[in-house]
Parts: sequence; C-alpha cells; structure tokens
Amino acid sequence: MTDDDDLDCRAVIQELYTFLDGELAETKSVELTRHLHGCIDCHEAVAFHAELKMVISTKCRDQVPDSLRQRIAAALGLTSQQPGE
Ligand SMILES: [Zn+2]
Repeated sequence: MTDDDDLDCRAVIQELYTFLDGELAETKSVELTRHLHGCIDCHEAVAFHAELKMVISTKCRDQVPDSLRQRIAAALGLTSQQPGE
C-alpha cells in the first residue's frame, strides 16, 4: 500500500461494479487496476465480486437448482411443494 495512489480503497469499492460491468472510463479503469496490483484487500474484493457476478449470470442462464429454489421459497415464507420430486 502506498500513499501516492490516486484511488483509495473506498473509491475502488464504490467503482467496483461499474468496473466489473466494463462501464468505467478507461483512465479510471487503469487507475483502479493499478490500485488492485498494490492492494491485496481490494484485489480480493474484486476477485470475489467478479466470481460472484459470473456465478450469478451462469446460474441465471442455467436452471436454478430445486434445493436453492426451495430455500428461497422458504426464506420468502412460501412453502410450496414441488411435485415430481
Ligand atoms: Zn485498496
């Protein structure tokens, strides 16, 4: 971690989703990437959210597993039975 970073960690986290969506301005994106190389905390945060985002988009394209659907239903207070299982 260095003091002459253009971005601080809070700024990185704020821009994280814009960055992951590829919608961050190029100069900002370069600064952010540079910060990530020097900051393990932000690097891990970005890696985590990138993976999470990928998992979510993959799961949304695939079918949601019944077990997960039932857990969501239970969490919402809907205890609908799934026939055929
Ligand atoms: Zn950081």
